[in-house]
Amino acid sequence: MKKLLSMLIILILVFTFSSCADGKKRYEAESLQVFDTVTKIIAYSKNKSEFTELSEFVFDILNEYHKLYDIYHDYHGINNIKTINDNAGKSPVKVDKKIIDLLLFSKNAYTKTRGKCNVALGSVLKIWHKYRESGIDDPQNAKLPDLGSLRKAASHTDIGKIIIDEKKSTVFLADPKMSLDVGAVAKGFAAECVAQEIALRGYTSVLISIGGNVIAIGAKPGGSFWNVGIENPDNDGKEMPTLQLKDKSVVTSGVYQRYYTVNGKQYHHIIDPEALMPSTYFKSVTVVSDDSGLADALSTAVMCMPYEQGKELIDSISGTDAVWVLPDSNILYSDNFKQYLKK
Ligand code: AMP
Ligand code: MG
Repeated sequence: MKKLLSMLIILILVFTFSSCADGKKRYEAESLQVFDTVTKIIAYSKNKSEFTELSEFVFDILNEYHKLYDIYHDYHGINNIKTINDNAGKSPVKVDKKIIDLLLFSKNAYTKTRGKCNVALGSVLKIWHKYRESGIDDPQNAKLPDLGSLRKAASHTDIGKIIIDEKKSTVFLADPKMSLDVGAVAKGFAAECVAQEIALRGYTSVLISIGGNVIAIGAKPGGSFWNVGIENPDNDGKEMPTLQLKDKSVVTSGVYQRYYTVNGKQYHHIIDPEALMPSTYFKSVTVVSDDSGLADALSTAVMCMPYEQGKELIDSISGTDAVWVLPDSNILYSDNFKQYLKK
């Protein structure tokens, strides 16, 4: 037994030494150019030029996804989600396969989450977006949208009316008053696609965070875990759990990420498709999954369901776990979550 133990220790040491012998160093790069947030890449590379090549490759692809999935801006020579929205009820729009794939994924996410993550909720989200922006600009006059106009808008959110023709690579919105908002899934889906491209190029120790949507590609050199902290929704200095991950994604949706204040009460950006109001069940939900797109869709959706329903959904998907931060700041975990907690 003693002999086995010392062999094990030697193996671990050899492993650690071999990674040192690899001469890989930790590098970091940051960009503010994509998805209107901070994107960070951490990787272990042989030298700076290898890392620069990797980070430029990642930022370039993410920039492409950012333009394609943009709902607010036009880009010369590109048909993006905004182009699809602008042509609602008028004509099908020819788009890049990356958009077709995102929308097929989103339809599937809608079914999986029983409608709680709905990329066709654009007409409702647009109203909230407008009130939030003006409320942030002019806090004294911040107002809530009236339920009547939200209900009217909600009659134009049928995801079945996103007509996808894979052969022709076109998308048509069959209701002229509907629009797409892919904010709940775009970052995670893009991160997953980028991770696959990176892995294909043979990179093994890379961590990418797109505004807190984190994806771990492989492990650190020597096989050790990446440590990823969960954000504290209260920002009150209280310690939150740190997760240990390899080849996993972790995505958090939270009430603190985007909000405005009306009469002293905060109204955030995740809208319950049934209530048409910001969800009220939790301060945040963090999902760990093998698939970053799925983690993103689930974190948004699970914010909009009671704990029991969310837990049942999370526990039914293999390789997927979650942490819920309740309004009183207590923390709940899915059945298998504890395996990721740093000891
Ligand atoms: P996330 O931060 O991933 O939870 O996504 C939030 C963003 O998704 C919001 O800013 C909206 O653009 C959009 N969104 C909000 N509520 C929903 C919902 N119930 N289904 C789909 N998208 C939503
Ligand atoms: Mg999401």
